[in-house]
Amino acid sequence: MNFHILTLFPDMVMQGLSQSIIGRAAERGLLSIEAVNIRDYTKDKHKKVDDYPYGGGAGMLMQAQPVYDAWKAVGDRIADRAQAISPQYAPNVCVTPQGGQAQDARKQTDQAALGRIRTVYVTPQGETFSQQKAKELAREEDVIFLCGHYEGIDERVLEEIVTDYISIGDYVLTGGELPAMVMIDAISRMVPGVLNNGESGETESFEGDLLEYPQYSRPEEWHGKSVPEVLLSGNRRMIDAWRRKAAEERTKERRPDLYQKYARGQACIAALEKQKLLHMDMIELLKRGQARILFAEGANICLQDKESGIYFHTAEDEQTGHQMLKVLGEDAAAEGRSYVQTAEMPEGGVADDAAQANIGAIVLHQEFMIEPVREQFGLTNTMPCSQVVYTKREKLPITGLYRADGRSDGELPVIRPLGMEHLDTVALHYHEIADRTYVAGRIAKRAMYGAFLGEELAGFVGMHTEGSIGMLHILPEYRGRKLGKALETYMINRCLERGYTPYGQVTAENGTSKKLQESLGLCCSKSQVYWLEREP
Ligand code: SAM
Repeated sequence: MNFHILTLFPDMVMQGLSQSIIGRAAERGLLSIEAVNIRDYTKDKHKKVDDYPYGGGAGMLMQAQPVYDAWKAVGDRIADRAQAISPQYAPNVCVTPQGGQAQDARKQTDQAALGRIRTVYVTPQGETFSQQKAKELAREEDVIFLCGHYEGIDERVLEEIVTDYISIGDYVLTGGELPAMVMIDAISRMVPGVLNNGESGETESFEGDLLEYPQYSRPEEWHGKSVPEVLLSGNRRMIDAWRRKAAEERTKERRPDLYQKYARGQACIAALEKQKLLHMDMIELLKRGQARILFAEGANICLQDKESGIYFHTAEDEQTGHQMLKVLGEDAAAEGRSYVQTAEMPEGGVADDAAQANIGAIVLHQEFMIEPVREQFGLTNTMPCSQVVYTKREKLPITGLYRADGRSDGELPVIRPLGMEHLDTVALHYHEIADRTYVAGRIAKRAMYGAFLGEELAGFVGMHTEGSIGMLHILPEYRGRKLGKALETYMINRCLERGYTPYGQVTAENGTSKKLQESLGLCCSKSQVYWLEREP
């Protein structure tokens, strides 16, 4: 991931970010951090970058020209690099500069060339930074941070380049450097590989709307206080239960607002668990802290996966089902209005039907909702699937399937994350998902794994954005060697290690997959879920 910081104080940010975990991650090439001095781009012969605000008032303002030119120089470099790596995958950016009504030909060309680069203006006037925002930004390949100084920055340049206004709290600092450093630190921890322990970024405070439980280290007794006995017991299940309870109590006491959110999620989980296999997708979204609850009344629940934007809907009866679709449509329309605006759209360019434009997919859990969704949202591509769930807690044995030590012996495969160099092979063999960018994104997130015999990629599997195990494929020349079982076992054990319930979704035609799942002891839902998407 690449951070680009536009600042008047490059040394300050570079010194701060070159230490400790972030510094080491940059040295290992997992992150790149550059500070660009806005002053280098001023056209003023005295290198001035600020001037008095029109209409009077205290202090000076940073001028538009140097900020814009510094931003454009960085944006051009990002676009060139992305183009050079993969024209199809370039640029990995997702939001158009606000105020995107093209005013003249030059601006249009600029925007097209720069793509839609995520540009954060750190400002006390923005939305408050959060763990969720850190996660969201960590999915970008490049993020530009703009640090203000003095009384801020000329509004006109902000309108043109900024995609996100983010604050670190309700207080005013002298400059944007410290906020940018705070955000970069939190985002970096979400980048795979930055924390040596791949898990800890996912299991600490704010995940699943709970603060982290209290922690203890040696000695067992200090100042007369002992470590809670259960933590010395070695009993994983008891330790997990103790930690969960302690986290709940702590959250209730210190952050009642967060606890309320958590309790609402727990109530949804309890309702969904009445048909556990059918609802495993929604249950896991809630448990993994990935769900935004749009509607919850008894077993009538509508969620949005915060990662993929996909909506999940389950209803007890048609009437409530319709009521929930209304809420879903309004939600999508509101989101659509805020960012379904592209350079190609007409002036004032909000999509006619922002809701439709903003819904990628809806996952239904009752057949009777298919027609209403088709009609209302134009999602006509329907894929019915059964949910297959591994309901036990014990890991599956791996003997005879793959080598856990990572050393290939030519007989058994080694399983490891795929790199971008495997994208072509995956795209060539896996046809169910036409979107190459999706697969590339999964590889970038280290959510795709390959079975390697020597250096040869013999098969692959992945975890979808919303959390199901899928994309299993064995290359024809390697079939009949239990590689499918090896990959599936690897994914199931990996999920269990992270405290997830492993599950997948299998279409009716995929008999081979169903057989494999059953042989591994997964349970299959009696009723089906229905993925509704737009026709490709
Ligand atoms: N006059 C501005 C206002 O009232 O919004 C404040 C300007 S502040 C003195 C200078 C710069 O510091 C801002 O442009 C912004 O980049 C940064 N800054 C100050 N407080 C911040 C905060 N709480 N979060 C993020 N950035 C902040």
